[in-house]
Amino acid sequence: MKIVVCIKQVPDTNEVKLDPITNTLIRDGVPSIINHDDKSGIEAALILKERFGGTVSVVCMGPPQADVALREALAMGCDEAYLVSAREFGGSDTWATASIISAALTNIGYDLVITGRQAIDGDTAQVGPQIAETLGIPQVSYAEEIYDIEDGNKVIVKRQFEDRYHIIEVKMPCLLTALAELATPRYMHAGGIIDAYKKDVKLLGYDDLKDQLVPEYIGLKGSPTNVFKSFTKQAKGTGTILKDLSPDEAVEAIIAKLDERHII
Ligand SMILES: Cc1cc2nc3c(=O)[nH]c(=O)nc-3n(C[C@H](O)[C@H](O)[C@H](O)COP(=O)(O)OP(=O)(O)OC[C@H]3O[C@@H](n4cnc5c(N)ncnc54)[C@H](O)[C@@H]3O)c2cc1C
Repeated sequence: MKIVVCIKQVPDTNEVKLDPITNTLIRDGVPSIINHDDKSGIEAALILKERFGGTVSVVCMGPPQADVALREALAMGCDEAYLVSAREFGGSDTWATASIISAALTNIGYDLVITGRQAIDGDTAQVGPQIAETLGIPQVSYAEEIYDIEDGNKVIVKRQFEDRYHIIEVKMPCLLTALAELATPRYMHAGGIIDAYKKDVKLLGYDDLKDQLVPEYIGLKGSPTNVFKSFTKQAKGTGTILKDLSPDEAVEAIIAKLDERHII
C-alpha cells in the first residue's frame, strides 16, 4: 500500500497579513509550520503503515523553504519526500494547485492519498476534493477515524457530518481529507531528525512533471480565480447591546434601531 500525504507549509500564526499591493500573504519573518490537519494526516498514515505495512510519502508544493516542512515529516517517520516547486507554479489558485499536485501524484504513484481538510492560510478546503476530482478517484472528506483496511484495498473510515457521522467503505485508489482529530501527531525524536537530514528531498519541477501537467492550469496565468483585492476588515465601532429585554421587547427595539438608521 503506497500512502501519499499532501502537506502545506503555512505561516505559524492566526494573524495572517496580506501584502495590499500583491494580495499575497506576507511570509517573510513569519515562522512556518506544517498545516495542523496535514500533520494529523501524516500521523494517520504512519499508523496505517505500522498496522498494515506499505510506505508513506509526503508531497508539498511550495517555494524552496518548504524543504523544512518535508524534513520534519521525514523526521516523524515518513519514507520519502517530494518538493513540487517551479517558478511556473507561482500564484496558483486552488484549482491550479490541485492540478499540479495531481500531476505529481500521478508521477509518484499512490493507493491512498491523504490531504488536510483545510489550510489555515488560504482557508478554502478546496484542494483535497479538487485533487480527487482531477485524478478521478473517490474521496471521503472530514475523516475523523480510520477503522480498518479490508482485503488490502478497502478503507473503512468514520466521516464527521454535522452533529453525526457516517461509516464509509471506500476502495483504493482513493483520497481522504483529514480532520485534526484523525490522529495526534507524534513528536520527532533526535534519531529521526538526524535520519531526516540524511535522506534526499526529491525535487519535482516543471520539466519533471510536464508529461502529467495540464498546461492551461499552471500558476497565476492558469488560475481561474485571482485574489483581486485584499484588505483587513475595519471594525465599524462598537455595536449596541440590548440587555434585560423580553424577546418581544428585543424585537421591537431592533426594529426601532433599523428604522432609525433608515435600514428598513
Ligand atoms: C487570503 C487568501 C485567499 C485565497 N482565496 C482563494 C480563493 O478564494 N480561491 C482560490 O482558488 N484560491 C484562493 N487562494 C489561493 C489558495 O490559497 C492557494 O491556491 C493555495 O495553494 C491552496 O488553497 P488553500 O490554502 O485554501 O488550501 P486548502 O484547500 O484549504 O488545503 C486543503 C489541503 O490541501 C493540501 N494542500 C493545499 N495546498 C497545498 C500545497 N501547496 N502543497 C501540498 N498540499 C497542499 C493540504 O493537505 C491542505 O490541508 C487564496 C489565498 C489567500 C492567501
